[in-house]
Amino acid sequence: MIHSYGTFAPADFMVLVHGGAGAVHQDALARHMDGCMQAARIAGELLAAGGSAEDAAVRAVTTLEDDPVFNAGTGACLDEDGTLSLDAAIMEGGALRGGGVCALPPFKNPVAIARAAMDDGEHVLYAAEGAARFAMARGFTPASEEDMITAVARERFAAVRDRGELSGWAGGTVGAVVVVRGHVVAATSTGGKINKRKGRVGDSPILGAGTYADDAAGACSATGDGERFMRMCIAKSVIDQLTAGATPESAARDALATMVARVGGDGGLIVVDRTGRMGLARNTSTMTWGAMAEGWSEPRGGS
Ligand code: ASP
Repeated sequence: MIHSYGTFAPADFMVLVHGGAGAVHQDALARHMDGCMQAARIAGELLAAGGSAEDAAVRAVTTLEDDPVFNAGTGACLDEDGTLSLDAAIMEGGALRGGGVCALPPFKNPVAIARAAMDDGEHVLYAAEGAARFAMARGFTPASEEDMITAVARERFAAVRDRGELSGWAGGTVGAVVVVRGHVVAATSTGGKINKRKGRVGDSPILGAGTYADDAAGACSATGDGERFMRMCIAKSVIDQLTAGATPESAARDALATMVARVGGDGGLIVVDRTGRMGLARNTSTMTWGAMAEGWSEPRGGS
């Protein structure tokens, strides 16, 4: 069953964030939604003060990376070696510039390094040691595992190993889509899957799979089964549907339904179009989200 949410009216600026598709327990749902609404509020304040869509997307995602509840930055899930291997990307829809890092060792804010890659412009995607080298050359300091790995992440890792599972869905990936007077940006950040093999990269840092933005249509950030999302180029398929005239809500719903029909899989999508309308869809039991738009006194959120 695909759940989708109504499309709000167009706004001059809009930021919409997600805290990951999955199955957040009822007891933890309010905390997850608060985290998303807080990220939307902070990014919305930046936009209200005249900040750029790029700055707002990075601000929203770094806020979520710093919140240990989510599977990104601090609190991210662990790979088969019991350490962090982080993926993140950002894309802006004007000149279609993008930047990403994947299999990145511990750094506090992978999305900020992705932004540095986008601004640098030489390459789009940096992996593993090369990503760390690029980050340090741009002034980012490596973090210690002790600072970034939480007790909860260790417990969940141990539970997956005890059950003998190859890799387990962590939930809690984060993303943001922003529109400012027709200019759109998408950003996504994740630890990926629990106990994933060393070197595994998911959809989040792959432009077109987990993250895509085009001022001709809109922006999309995905969360869910990365292997399936990559095979469907799902974020780009949402943008193609917007281009063909779909609303953000129906584009998100149809892209998920097509994925399920073709390759199976679970997840969720957040979408804004160039006019400032937003839409979301998921086929998981939860996907927490928060949004803030020009003219709203408070952020809205849901699950
Ligand atoms: N899409 C992410 C990945 O496969 C995980 C998630 O969104 O929960 O790495």
